[in-house]
Amino acid sequence: MNETAAHSAKPMPVIFFGHGNPMNALMENDYTRGWAAIGKKCPRPRAIVCVSAHWYLPGTAVTAMHRPRTIHDFGGFPRELYEVKYPAPGDPLLARRVESLLAPAPVRLDERWGLDHGTWSVLCHVFPDADVPVIQLSIDETQPAEFHYRLGKRLAPLRDEGILIVGSGNLVHNLHAYAWGRHAVEPLDWAVGFEERARELLLTGDHGPLINYERLGRDAILSAPTPDHYLPLLYVIALQREDEEVSFPVEGFDGGSISMLTVQIGKDRRQ
Ligand code: ZN
Repeated sequence: MNETAAHSAKPMPVIFFGHGNPMNALMENDYTRGWAAIGKKCPRPRAIVCVSAHWYLPGTAVTAMHRPRTIHDFGGFPRELYEVKYPAPGDPLLARRVESLLAPAPVRLDERWGLDHGTWSVLCHVFPDADVPVIQLSIDETQPAEFHYRLGKRLAPLRDEGILIVGSGNLVHNLHAYAWGRHAVEPLDWAVGFEERARELLLTGDHGPLINYERLGRDAILSAPTPDHYLPLLYVIALQREDEEVSFPVEGFDGGSISMLTVQIGKDRRQ
């Protein structure tokens, strides 16, 4: 974070984070160390737009307040997790810019939400100082996958303005199959199978099957039984430019049925 990207000729990278268990906010493990390393390599963003799996509602909204609150949108976790604050400022002007870029799709400027754990459980490791403004973009649950991919494309100019666009979800996310115990478990065969297929498609830039993921068969149905944690990925890959490289700086499975894969589009350093 020792460079500012505002005047960079290179576009900012775009990153999909597999956030997994909210407790990662408090942990130091391979995932969180990987997230911290990404923050150190990334040119310092002017601001961040985050599409979080946990803001999934009927309609597209963008947080537009000056001081977004830290939302503890989960139950049954230790008290210390409810005490985590991520006091990054908002960016109301950027919210309006996003609204205009996404037109004619209607976008609601939101004053009530804030930063949910899809955003802060990762960003507290990537940018621990919480000094980069953050806005969230919701996922319209009434729309098909193709809509989200097209909407993501409209954010493309922001990459040239020093804005880091982030999706936070999980490529494989099946809580029914998740092993909640403390011991490590092997990833399930369908989880591994779907992640492998998705990696191939990402590396070859074949976005059609990734958009129509529900047609990829049993492994896909079990890996993304609901769309919320998968769809942030489509906003990220929609922003891939011609010949731009894809990398997986963080990987692994948690509880057998959660892929922690991070998908990065573009380079992290200006060269
Ligand atoms: Zn989640």
